[in-house]
Amino acid sequence: MTINNIVDESFIINQNKLKKFENKCDNIKIGIMGGTFDPIHYAHLATAEFIRDSYKLDKILFIPSGNPPHKKRKITDKYHRYNMVLLSTINNDNFIVSDMEIKREKSTYTIDTLKQLKQIYINAEIYFITGADAICDIETWKDVEENFKLANFIAATRPGISLLKINEKIKDLKDKYNANIESIYVPSLDISSTYIRNQLNKNKTIRYLVPELVQEYIYNKQIYNNGE
Ligand code: ATP
Ligand code: MG
Repeated sequence: MTINNIVDESFIINQNKLKKFENKCDNIKIGIMGGTFDPIHYAHLATAEFIRDSYKLDKILFIPSGNPPHKKRKITDKYHRYNMVLLSTINNDNFIVSDMEIKREKSTYTIDTLKQLKQIYINAEIYFITGADAICDIETWKDVEENFKLANFIAATRPGISLLKINEKIKDLKDKYNANIESIYVPSLDISSTYIRNQLNKNKTIRYLVPELVQEYIYNKQIYNNGE
C-alpha cells in the first residue's frame, strides 16, 4: 500500500471515529490537544496519552492549527500537517483528529475553537492541554479571560521549564482570571518540531522521534527539504 492509500484510509477511519463520538458525547470529558504539529512527534502523542490516562478523559481531540497568528516562520501546508496527525492516530481509538481549524480561512484563535467545541459537544467537559511553554505565553492569546471560562486547562511539564515555574504562572493566572488550571508532571521527552525540522534540513535521522508513517510521509512528500 502506498502512503497516499494509507492517508486515505486514515481519513475514513477518523471520520468514523468522529461520527461515533459526536453521537454520544453527553457527560464525557474531552481533552483538546492543539498545535501546529509541524510535524507531530512522539512527545505530543505521549503527553496526550499520559494526560488522558491521568485525568480519565474519554477522548483526545487533536486540532492542527490552520493559520496560527503567533508563528512567524513559514509553516508547512496545513493539509500535510493534518495528514501527519491522521497517520499518527490511526491505531488509537481514543485519539481523534479535528479539521475545524484548518478549514477556517482566517487566522485561527483558540477562543473561536473553544466556542465551536462548546456548540458541538454541548454537555461535555473540555480540558485544554498545553505544554509548559504554551502556558507561559497564554496571556498573548486572544480573549485570554474568556478562554478560561470555556475550558479547564492542563499544563504539562516540558524539558527546559521547571514545574516550579509552571506553578508560579498558574497561581498568577488563577489570581488574575480565576482560571481553572492545573499542572501535571509528564515523563519528559526533549523533542520539538523545530528540532525535527533541523535534523531534516541537515539530512540527519528522525527515526524514533516521529511515528514511522509520519517519517515515510515526510520523505515521500519531500517536506522540510528547503530550509525553515
Ligand atoms: P515547534 O518547535 O514548531 O514550536 P513544538 O514541538 O513546540 O513545535 P507545537 O505544535 O508548537 O510543537 O506544540 C503543540 C503543543 O504540544 C503545545 O502545547 C506544546 O507546548 C506541546 N508540546 C510540544 N512538545 C512537547 C514536549 N516535548 N513535551 C511536552 N509538551 C510538548
Ligand atoms: Mg511550539
